[in-house]
Amino acid sequence: MIPVSVSEILQVVGGRLLHGTPAGTVTSVVTDSRKAAENTLFVAIPGENADGHAFVEKAFAQGAVCALVEREVEINLNHPVIFVENTVRAMGALAQLVIKRLCVPTVGITGSVGKTTTRDMTHAVLSAKFNTLKNKNNFNNEIGVPLTVFEADETITAAVIEMGMDNFGEIDRLSAIVQPNAAIVTNIGMSHIERLGSQENIYRAKSELFAHTKKDGVVILNGDDKILMAHKDEISQKVITVGVKNPTADFTASDIKAEEDSVTFRFSGLGHEFKVALPVPGEHNVSDALLACAAGIYFGVPDAKIAEALQNFTLTGMRMDIIRCGSITVINDCYNAAPASVSAALSVLSKRRDRKVAVLGDIAALGAYSYNAHRELGAEVTKNGIDLLITVGENARFIAEGAFENGMDSMNIISVDTVEEIYPYLSSSIKENDVVLVKASRVMGLERVTEFLKNNF
Ligand code: ATP
Ligand code: MG
Repeated sequence: MIPVSVSEILQVVGGRLLHGTPAGTVTSVVTDSRKAAENTLFVAIPGENADGHAFVEKAFAQGAVCALVEREVEINLNHPVIFVENTVRAMGALAQLVIKRLCVPTVGITGSVGKTTTRDMTHAVLSAKFNTLKNKNNFNNEIGVPLTVFEADETITAAVIEMGMDNFGEIDRLSAIVQPNAAIVTNIGMSHIERLGSQENIYRAKSELFAHTKKDGVVILNGDDKILMAHKDEISQKVITVGVKNPTADFTASDIKAEEDSVTFRFSGLGHEFKVALPVPGEHNVSDALLACAAGIYFGVPDAKIAEALQNFTLTGMRMDIIRCGSITVINDCYNAAPASVSAALSVLSKRRDRKVAVLGDIAALGAYSYNAHRELGAEVTKNGIDLLITVGENARFIAEGAFENGMDSMNIISVDTVEEIYPYLSSSIKENDVVLVKASRVMGLERVTEFLKNNF
């Protein structure tokens, strides 16, 4: 982390010193007291399972130099404890200071699906020229983004930060921290529509990013997304569009070839032209890669280096992971699900030559759109020639309904309510060489199915 003194922290978070004197320098920030070490700032967060305020003394005993709290705590040590109204927000204010000090080219990424994929690709591309920071795993919220920023040391020369949201105001707060030079929006889908009410509102929530993008920066948009394109002219920064289907986009992909475990395309636009070979399956990855290429070009990465970086990039786990389990192949994509990503996964499965099995669970938080969205995916199951469909959960039954109504034989459709009920069906119906896609929203915990397949085939 870029070192920050305790007195600077006191000032930037607008806090009140409850205890001790504002001496010392912070060189790391933790929210988990077990990770506290010398010169750590311990941020006490009242969590669902445990309240960080109970561990302030423990953090100090392990070497912490300062603590941020939002309620009074009794401690017997004479260390600085800073009281603020909201420790998570205070951590954001500190991260904003650190980003300003870091002062490196920064990319902020949001969108409904494909944020992590685009982040990983953009990180790979920028790493060809810069020592680039990115969020770990899915650290994309009000706790994860600051913790990501605190990971940066003086050697970092660029940052790619994914920002997630499930309500208005969140992207505003996250992008105020990041203040990117380049803002990327992957697409406007259905995620969180239950809370936000409409895709138009989802756009409004994501577009909070632009107010914090540098005025002389750039906004890179998916030109195939109708909602993004409808609002493009309202954006005050320079806008660059990329598109697979939109021939008027600044950068386009042609000659797309989707293979069982890879996808290739020709990238062109604004005087650039090169071939890209992605080591992951799925045409949806082409959209994400176009965004990463556009960011690379904007920050001056040579074309050949962009192509090379994308050829070697790796995706964060549980996203389109192709795992060989004995005689079968599992496409483990159970990290999360939205209608667009289930559709993308079915298209990947359809490219396989062997018997295709889809184990699909509920897509959460679709509210009034849930019934139709699940049924439409059912139609896609049939259209993509899936041989066996197993649905799990109340809403996923509508996928089964949609598949049946579009002509899939009922003999090849199984619907159950719980993950445990799937196992006997897997044992009896999975055959040698089958390819099994496993996908659902996070709450369904479908990685249990992947584990079962790993252990039993
Ligand atoms: P989260 O909101 O959980 O952070 P995310 O936006 O970071 O999700 P990823 O983790 O990159 O998204 O991908 C989620 C799922 O969407 C994966 O199944 C992935 O294969 C799929 N996906 C990625 N990019 C696209 C895309 N452009 N269109 C459709 N599906 C996509
Ligand atoms: Mg993500």
